[in-house]
Amino acid sequence: MEVQQQFFRDTWVEVNLDHIEENIKQIKGIFKQEMNIMAVVKANAYGHGAVEVAKRAIRAGARYLAVSFLDEALQLRQAGIVSPILVFGRVRPHDVNLAAAHQIAVTVYQEEWLLEAKQHYTADQSLRLHVKFDTGMGRIGITNKENGKAVITLIQSCEMFELEGVFTHFATADDTDLDYFNKQYSRFLDVLAWLEDWGVSVKFIHCGNSATGLRFPDKVFNMVRLGIAMYGLSPSEEIKEEIPVNLKEAFSLHSRIIQVKEIHPGDAISYGATYVAAEKQWIATIPIGYADGWFRYHSSQGGYVLVDGKRAPIVGRVCMDQCMVRLPYEVEVGTVATLIGSQQDERITVDQVAKRLETINYEIPCMIGSRVPRIFIEEQKIIAIRNGIRL
Ligand SMILES: *Cc1c(COP(=O)(O)O)cnc(C)c1O
Repeated sequence: MEVQQQFFRDTWVEVNLDHIEENIKQIKGIFKQEMNIMAVVKANAYGHGAVEVAKRAIRAGARYLAVSFLDEALQLRQAGIVSPILVFGRVRPHDVNLAAAHQIAVTVYQEEWLLEAKQHYTADQSLRLHVKFDTGMGRIGITNKENGKAVITLIQSCEMFELEGVFTHFATADDTDLDYFNKQYSRFLDVLAWLEDWGVSVKFIHCGNSATGLRFPDKVFNMVRLGIAMYGLSPSEEIKEEIPVNLKEAFSLHSRIIQVKEIHPGDAISYGATYVAAEKQWIATIPIGYADGWFRYHSSQGGYVLVDGKRAPIVGRVCMDQCMVRLPYEVEVGTVATLIGSQQDERITVDQVAKRLETINYEIPCMIGSRVPRIFIEEQKIIAIRNGIRL
């Protein structure tokens, strides 16, 4: 047992780590050459739990980890993870010594940033750098040749700086229309040609997120940055049919019914008394609400949960900590209600929930907050529990 933190509520997330491993291994198999997998575990591994996912991803063959900011990288180091980690976002220039001390690679996205970082640099260890070019995402990155040259020259002039990677990020890799993707790709090829002109070689060249890797396995150079697909989700609805592997969702969300009651015609449910029973029916209360990231929108958008393998629609407004569902028939208090996942022959996928909330699947596991403990499953056994409230 890696981490066992008890919790005392009847709502939890289950993360199937075997699925994460299977997804990584299957995806690794689609590349012709040996591919370096960078497992993207930012945002608490898209809400799944960063430490456990990172460890399992490494076991499954990932070579590198990636996060968004320094705290997320330090969390992994504090958990004893020694694999290389890249921070995609901005590390504050005065924090580069901390990154170096923990052997955390950082992204260089602007000449000014590098000049400042150099001024602050006092660490004895060298600092690994990945230079980010903006080829059309318009977020962070170097946008032209002059800045690129200045940054590379500056890195090479400082013996504590090690140029380890060069990368870019696509805005439309998950789109059916590939014009913009191709434009960005050819700009990145230009960047690589400049590097060659300048006589610069780098260990890792990477441009592919999940969508790029899955669709164009021969266009991601020697490293792919695997996020959403590792969690078993498609980067978009449009390319779902194109995915060459059978991805398995790792995330599911469950609760236990805490009260069951029969209501009668005219009886109302929840704030605003907006739901009024037309006939006699069984109603259950489940202890999850918008403060857990189970938003009020679920009820107005026709949301439902699974109880005893059957659909139970959410009725009335979702409260902060609880919500109510209409049961197919009377069940016992303590019966499991599955909000995302399967029960018997019924299944509620992350994609279905995303559609219900008119958003993308990425948002769904991310929005389930740290109030909801994560239970990690390997071979049907619980191997760790993380309770975000009592860390
Ligand atoms: C989040 C992120 C990824 C992962 O994207 P997915 O679509 O989840 O695979 C890759 N690269 C960068 C720079 C990112 O920020």
